[in-house]
Formats: sequence, C-alpha cells, structure tokens
Amino acid sequence: MQLEVSRAWIEIDLKNIEHNIKEIKKILSPKTKIMAVLKADAYGLGATEIAKKLNTLGIYDFAVATLEEGISLRKSKILGNVLLFGYTPIKFLSLVQEYDLIQTITDYEYAEKIGKLNLIKKLKCHVKIDTGMNRMGEKYNAFSHLNKIYKNEKLEILGTFSHLCTSDSKETKDKQFTEQQINHFNTCIQMLKDHGLVIGNTHIQSSYGMLNYQDLPYDYVRIGILLFGIHSAKNFYKKISLDLKPVCKVKARITSIKTIETGETVGYGRTYKAEKKGKIASVSIGYADGYPRSLSNTKAMVLVCNTYAKVIGKICMDQIMVDVSDIKEAKVGDIVTLIGDNPIVQAEEIARLAGTITPELLSRLGKRLPRIYKD
Ligand SMILES: *Cc1c(COP(=O)(O)O)cnc(C)c1O
Repeated sequence: MQLEVSRAWIEIDLKNIEHNIKEIKKILSPKTKIMAVLKADAYGLGATEIAKKLNTLGIYDFAVATLEEGISLRKSKILGNVLLFGYTPIKFLSLVQEYDLIQTITDYEYAEKIGKLNLIKKLKCHVKIDTGMNRMGEKYNAFSHLNKIYKNEKLEILGTFSHLCTSDSKETKDKQFTEQQINHFNTCIQMLKDHGLVIGNTHIQSSYGMLNYQDLPYDYVRIGILLFGIHSAKNFYKKISLDLKPVCKVKARITSIKTIETGETVGYGRTYKAEKKGKIASVSIGYADGYPRSLSNTKAMVLVCNTYAKVIGKICMDQIMVDVSDIKEAKVGDIVTLIGDNPIVQAEEIARLAGTITPELLSRLGKRLPRIYKD
C-alpha cells in the first residue's frame, strides 16, 4: 500500500466535505448557490478528486485561477460551470472555448481586445467589477466603459461579480468599507439593469463574506477554504460559527531516535541546546514538503503516540527534529501528525505560528506528499 512506503503524506477525508457543504447550506438562502473555489489544485488537496466528490453532492459550479487549472478539471470529466478568475492571454482564449470554460473579463481594455477577435462563437464570461480592492475589474462607476463591455457582441455575459477585501474584520472602518463595496456593487448592478443590459448571475462573497454578511441577495457565494473545514486564520472575525470538520491531515514518520546529553545541540545553526538529558526523534518531512521553515524555534508541536512533542531546532528541507524525551513508547516507524484536528496541530494554529494564513499553508504543501483519499 502506498501509505506504508510513504515518508510523509496528506490524508483527505471526502466525507467531511459532504458534512461541510451541509453546514454551509444551513446559512444560505435556498436560492443562493455554492460556487466551489478550487484554485491552486483545491488549496493543495487535489482539485480533481475534490471536484468529483462535489459533483456527486450536486455542486456544478466551480472556479479556478488559471486556464491550465480549468482544462485539468475538464480533462478529468468534471461537469458544470468552470469560471477562470485570472486573466487569460488573448491568444489562448480559443482554449477557453474549446474546453467550455468561462473567462473573467478583467477590465474594459480586455473586453475591447476580445471584441476585435474572430471567435467561432461568443466568449462565455463573467464581468469583474472593482468596488474598491483595486486588484482587478472595471471600476463600478465607469459607466461608459461598462456599457460598452455589456454591449460587446463577442461576449456572452453569464455573470457579474466583485470581491470584498475586508470582510474578515470586525473593525468599524473595515465594516464600513465592506458596506461601501456592497453599495458600489448594487449601484453598478442597478445602473446596468436600468439600461436594459443582461448581467447574469451576481456574486461578491467568499468564505468570510458569507460568514459576516450572510443576508446578501446574490446568486452565488464563492467558497474556498471553508469547504475544507478550516478557517483562514484564528483571529479573523466570524459572525457565524459553523460546525465544520477539517478535511485534511498531514502525517510523517519517525526515522530515527537518539539520546542527547545536557549541553548538546540539535540541527543547523545549533539553535536548540539541551538543558537536560533527553531523546530526540527525526521525522521525515521538511520545508520542501510545505512544513514552513518559519516554524523553526516557535512553539510548534506535533503529535507522537497521541502526545504533543515540541519541534526543535531549524526545520530542514526534508526533515524535522522533535523532542520525545517524555514519550517513552515512541519508536522508529511511528506515525507523526503535523496537521490534524487536534487543537494544537490544527491548520489554523500551525499557520499562526508560521506567520501566515491557512490557504497559504495548505496550497504550499509539496508535490512530494501523496494525497490519500478516503470516502
Ligand atoms: C480565492 C477566492 C475565493 C475563495 O476564497 P475563500 O476565502 O477561500 O473562500 C473567492 N473569490 C475569489 C475571487 C478568490 O480569488
């Protein structure tokens, strides 16, 4: 079995995705649909397998970041709509059509260039509206530009969307900014409708937009990280607490155990010095596998034989060392949990100690780790 030969791996419980979808649906109005955001290979967990599972759960709306990600879903026979959030260079738009993907119109200039192309049919698209994030999208109040985009003969406009950039905060100024973004989006939608233009399905909320601005009347919520039963960060504000179940666990093995004497040091730079005689285990996972090097000399812990063990010294490329002085039964070959559902090793806690957020932690889990699915 694959697991027995692996030095480190990711376990992915697809049943928990089913549970999380049910939880999310509890807070959505019946007319709002989930668009599952599976960019960066479903945050590192494997877009194909996750999308297949979602198809069986009746989810037929997906979003990814790039053309390659979209094509990959189609090649694995995923059914439904696939929106590309990112810009696709003009010369590859024929592939967007060939694979029946939906392109985001990032601004007026892009739409104008598409207007000049000889496409075999109209390009399916959603138009991105910039309501204040200033990352992507045509400005919400640039009406002459918007008017031309929506009248562009080469576009089949299936949706209109924007993105909130402070919906995960409870600071008054951030809430006000979010309200302002929502107002801008509504103004824009109204203006387009008043001119008889077809805007398609509307959407503005991602995970935290849904949790903190629950009652918005749009057609989709775009959900990424919450599908995986994980919050982006512990200190991000959430008005609603869902009973989510983490979908993934990261595990590795003890590959050696040695005794060290008082005063001996461990690892690169000798940053850890034993204050008493103890026992050190090497574990076969490192920063090349996505276990962040920034966890070096923090309070990061792992689970060994159901007991917490402290990570010591610098994280290496392929290995880490942990203090197992108090875990008598620990032995070579034992499985170590680095990320799991136990509070001290939850993704949120590991991300916090590494100075990042869980989407970065997950999406950087290395190619070298086999993904092992259970359903
Ligand atoms: C990544 C992304 C999402 C999903 O965000 P989560 O916080 O993971 O739910 C939604 N919309 C856009 C435009 C994104 O880039």
